[in-house]
Order: sequence, then structure tokens, then C-alpha cells
Amino acid sequence: MNSHYRKLTVGDTANFECLRCGRCCSSGPNVGLTAFDILRIAEHLGVEWQKLRGRHIIAVIADTIAIPILMDKGGGRCVFLEVLNGTPHCSIYPARPMKCKIYPFILYSSGNKDTLYLDECCPGVKVEKTIEPPWKILEKYIFELRVHYSTLYKLVFDYGIEPIEALERTIDEIAETYDFDERVKRSNNFSKG
Ligand code: SF4
Ligand code: SF4
Repeated sequence: MNSHYRKLTVGDTANFECLRCGRCCSSGPNVGLTAFDILRIAEHLGVEWQKLRGRHIIAVIADTIAIPILMDKGGGRCVFLEVLNGTPHCSIYPARPMKCKIYPFILYSSGNKDTLYLDECCPGVKVEKTIEPPWKILEKYIFELRVHYSTLYKLVFDYGIEPIEALERTIDEIAETYDFDERVKRSNNFSKG
């Protein structure tokens, strides 16, 4: 793991306050998404999720798995990054992806809700302010990752569906099954999620 990542467990605190420098939104197309993220962004923008394809979101195919990511609008800047009065600004802030919500904390493992990494490259980590790591958000993030990937893997490996179709069916299935905004399960279809 990156040497700038410090491991934290429940009970640890961290120094952090966002300085709104925009560094984390300008470092390349590295924001992976789940279907929940995509559906929240679409709802926030008032469009069907399909309208985001090729405009805000692309999929990178690794072997047989399609991973949706936010697009780069040039120079490594996120497609949703705007600058207002000289200050970087997320244009979908209330619906920003889980990965953005927890940053500068980073997922440690999809099976561990009590451990996180802290990216010490974030300039906001150098401030005096002490905070609790975002354990509740991490729990939701892990839940959503597990539902997304268990659905996607089932379609790819059990049903042999090609990567892009499997991803699109995953998003549609999750949209039909979950109240994605409230993250409340509406059926038992994904009881292991
Ligand atoms: S790099 Fe850190 S301080 Fe800068 S905008 Fe991102 S979270 Fe805030
Ligand atoms: S979605 Fe918003 S917070 Fe996330 S990288 Fe893009 S501009 Fe930054």
C-alpha cells in the first residue's frame, strides 16, 4: 500500500479540515463508482442515468469487469469540478460519489468497517483540527460496494453476460430493488449484500 496511507482503526482520531484546494478532484480519472453513486448523481441532475454515459461517466474494462469512473475534462480535472471566484467547487456536492465523501480517508477492505486509510498527501491533513474518521459513511460505502459487485459478478460469471451489458443491468437492477437515495433495502433479493 502507498506509503502516504496511514492505517486508522475505530477509536483513532485524525487531523483534518478541507482547505478546498481541489487537489483531490484534479489528480486524474480515479473516482470509481457504484450503481448507487450513478443513480444519486442522475437524480441530482434530474436525468435518467443513461444520459450520464459518455458525458460524465465512462467504463474501463478490466478483463470481463466494467468499472464505471468519472470522466476527466482535461488535465486530470474531474468532469464535475468547477472554479467559482477562484475556489474549486464540486458541482454535484450533495450527490458526490462515496469515494469523494470519505476522502482523505480511503477504503481499507470491503470486509472491514473498523479500519480506514488516511491519505497524508491531502494538505488538509496537516491542520490542527481533530476529527473522528467517517465510520458511518464507510459502513454505507462498503454496503453499496458489496451490492454493486455481487450483482455485477453474478451477471458476468454466472450468466456469462458481456462487461458493458452486465454493468448496465447491474445499475438497472439496483435502481429497481433499492431506494438508493435513502439506501434502504426494498426487497430481499440481495440479502447477502
Ligand atoms: S485535497 Fe484535501 S484539502 Fe484539498 S480539496 Fe481535497 S480533501 Fe480538501
Ligand atoms: S465528484 Fe466532486 S468531489 Fe468528486 S472528484 Fe468530482 S468534483 Fe471532486
